[in-house]
Amino acid sequence: MTYTYHNPTLIEFGKQKIESISTYIPKNAKVLFVYGGGSIKKNGVYEQVVKALENYEVLEFSGVEPNPTVETMNKAVKIVKEKNINFILAVGGGSVIDGCKYLAAASLYEGDAWDFLDGSAQPTEALPLGVILTLPATGSESNCGSVVSRKTTNEKRFFFSPKVFPMFAVLDPSVMSSLNDRQLANGLVDAFVHTCEQYITYPNESLLHDGYSETILKGLVSLANNWDKRDTYNWQENLMLLANQALNGFIGSGVPQDWATHMIGHELTAFYGLDHGRSLAVVQPQLLRVMFEDKKEKLLQMGQNVFNINDAQKSIEKIEELYHSLGVSTNLSDYGIDDKVVTNVTSALEKHGMTAIGENQNITLDKVEKILNLAIK
Ligand code: NAP
Ligand code: FE
Repeated sequence: MTYTYHNPTLIEFGKQKIESISTYIPKNAKVLFVYGGGSIKKNGVYEQVVKALENYEVLEFSGVEPNPTVETMNKAVKIVKEKNINFILAVGGGSVIDGCKYLAAASLYEGDAWDFLDGSAQPTEALPLGVILTLPATGSESNCGSVVSRKTTNEKRFFFSPKVFPMFAVLDPSVMSSLNDRQLANGLVDAFVHTCEQYITYPNESLLHDGYSETILKGLVSLANNWDKRDTYNWQENLMLLANQALNGFIGSGVPQDWATHMIGHELTAFYGLDHGRSLAVVQPQLLRVMFEDKKEKLLQMGQNVFNINDAQKSIEKIEELYHSLGVSTNLSDYGIDDKVVTNVTSALEKHGMTAIGENQNITLDKVEKILNLAIK
């Protein structure tokens, strides 16, 4: 095994931590405070941020949508350039954070920053970015990935760059009490699938990585089993910790990573507007069935160590049951999606050069077709 691991994001975890941001934002910074559709104005987060920023020059940018678009974020780029902003503060879930990673890099880029998303350029610099997380799910608060959409072409793409690691991330579980069941369930599913993308892969035999991944998976299963306690601080704190660790880079270091469920899921969101977590829940169980021969040893191990069963096939059923128990469907028909999805998704993957995905590049378009056909029940 070989890897380089460097996660520079400082984490402030716990109650009342929002006020700590002034310790990290340089005193003379001109800050763009970025948020989404306004949930932070209903749960007291907005007031806490305004208070913490009282000694700074601050401009606000709101309206970052779920699945952030370049069309919206380019408006923020214009403000940053015109007003000489030199610090970005993202307050929200994965969408606001990802949008701000794009913003931080696009603000210092001469050309059309979609170049980062279509892979034709890499950011060489970015403005410093701080994060206040309001929805545990993506791990975006302390990783260097960003997923951004382009409305005009129905595309959802991603980029990675060490330049966009947040400088700090505040994780205060008290902000979660205003989350509805749909967002909580989506977050739990996203964190579960992130872990699986780095764990149910072959060959992958690190005892440390496996043990860490299994601990995360067991934790998420336990939260699903204790769904009736989701209003408690302890439940919320656990989800925030688990979702963060699922995608902060460590469990994927030096091991093969799959990510095909995410790649297919992104196309579903781009075409049909499916929530990210829900797009993963329809794809992943069928992908595990189609790729069973490659995945069976790890699925058996997962059965033994996570679900207490001794059957690789049944592990897939357990995963599906887990999503159903959260009210998340694994059936494309439940979203009114018909078999046109197969051509839509496979042609988009082809256009994006993703004709052989998965940890061994053997999830080819014919397999994607099988996966999607199985997902229409
Ligand atoms: P999100 O899209 O950021 O937020 C979903 C909804 O939850 C929004 O309507 C938001 O409302 C609301 N919300 C957020 N915090 C809230 C709170 N405390 N109380 C009440 N409502 C709240 O959801 P997400 O699942 O975190 O992010 C999904 C995006 O991240 C997708 O685009 C996905 O592809 C991407 N993603 C990124 C990574 C990565 O590593 N970078 C990994 C996986 C997925 P407001 O807008 O009003 O705040
Ligand atoms: Fe995800």
